[in-house]
Parts: sequence; structure tokens; C-alpha cells
Amino acid sequence: MPPRGSQGSCLLCRKTITKREAALHVKDCLESSGWPRGQNPSLLIAVQGHRMGSYWLLLLARQDSTLAELDSLIRDVWVECCGHLSGFTIQGQRFTRSAECSEMDMKFPLSRVLSPGVPFLYEYDFGSTTMLDLHVVDSHPVSPPESPLCLLARNTPPKVPCDTCGRPAEFRLRDDDGESCIHLCRRCVAAPDHDPWCIEVISNSPRDSVCGYEEDAGAAVTWYPPGWMHEDLIDPELEALIERIQ
Ligand SMILES: [Zn+2]
Ligand SMILES: [Zn+2]
Ligand SMILES: [Zn+2]
Repeated sequence: MPPRGSQGSCLLCRKTITKREAALHVKDCLESSGWPRGQNPSLLIAVQGHRMGSYWLLLLARQDSTLAELDSLIRDVWVECCGHLSGFTIQGQRFTRSAECSEMDMKFPLSRVLSPGVPFLYEYDFGSTTMLDLHVVDSHPVSPPESPLCLLARNTPPKVPCDTCGRPAEFRLRDDDGESCIHLCRRCVAAPDHDPWCIEVISNSPRDSVCGYEEDAGAAVTWYPPGWMHEDLIDPELEALIERIQ
């Protein structure tokens, strides 16, 4: 069962919200956002990890935005590692996109292929696949101001305890054969007896620990509401620690 109480943040007012209340909350925030009202209502779309419901996003999409643009948002915020193939499955129909950026199959505007309430599926990388469940939650008269799609809310990182002290872990250490791993907090990872090549940062993504995936704050922030900066998405203390241990 997805943890419906899973916490996240509204990216409009920056308050902490739960997954359960997220859609209602962002609709209120959109009302007072001052964003333009489009000719056609925009779509409020929920995305979550398949069987990994603690990873979730809410986004606003103009009706004329395309599947390719939705694919780009998902890649930038959550899954892009090495340009794998991706695809949507909507009511039995497949729409795919290759690493060479052929957008042919994803050129369709969302209004042509999606309707409220109908679930659809996203897959990234048809080898070590990351699967996501999506659906249109609602429509809303407000449009994203600067881009066809805009992220409105996302989960806060699921809590993983440090295997040494129990505080929230931020790093993963794999053994040489990559079969087992431990999680460590930033204090315990600073102990000098770890092999720096085995240390990874735990990412806030359903693709965490798959195919060397690493979060890219610079790419993700391009889909955030106006006012968000690259620096808002990174923790300088953590960056400095990574520099030191790697
Ligand atoms: Zn809000
Ligand atoms: Zn990859
Ligand atoms: Zn610790």
C-alpha cells in the first residue's frame, strides 16, 4: 500500500504537506498564485513510483503540452541516467522516445491522449526499468506561467535509518561485489575507514541506486515554479562533505 501519509512540499508556498492533502492544497495555492488563466484549463497530473508510493509528484500541464515535454520533466526530475529509451502506455497504446531524441511518437498534445481519472504508465530504460504510475487528477483554470509544464509538489526523501547510529542516512556504501550495502548518515560516513569509490548519495527518486542514477538539481529546477534557484535544491554542507570523502 502506498503510504498516503507520506510527506512532501508544496513548491508554491514551500509548506510541508502530506500526499493525501497535496492535490487539494496545490489547487488552493494555484488560486492565489497570480498565474495566468489559459484559454483551456490545464491538467493536474499525479505521478508516483510503481509500488513505490513514497515517491510522488504533482504537476500542472497546459493542455497543448506534449508527451515529449512530460517525458523531459520526468527525466530531469527523477530518472535520467544515460539516455535510455522511455515510453508511455495509455489505454493500451504505446508512445516511445529513443535516446536520439526522436520525438515522433511523443509529439501528441496531452489533451489528445489523456483524460481525467484514466491511469497511465511510464517506463524509463527497458533493461533496468523504472516504472511510474500516472493519472490526471483534475483540471484547473490556471496555466503554468513560464513553461508548458510545472512541478507543483514532490515528496520529501523517504527516511532511511543510518545502520550505525540510527539517524537519517544520506549515503549508501556497497561492498566490492555490489551485492550488499549499508546506509550511513553524514556523521558516520566521515569516518576514515570507508572506500571512497563505494560511496553513493541516496537520491530522492524511484530510480535511486539503479544504473548509477544521480540527482541533477540543475536539470530539475528548470521545471520548478518561478522563484526557485539551483541553490535552493542543494545542501552546501552535503556538497562539501562529498568533495571531501570522494
Ligand atoms: Zn502551497
Ligand atoms: Zn543508465
Ligand atoms: Zn550514523
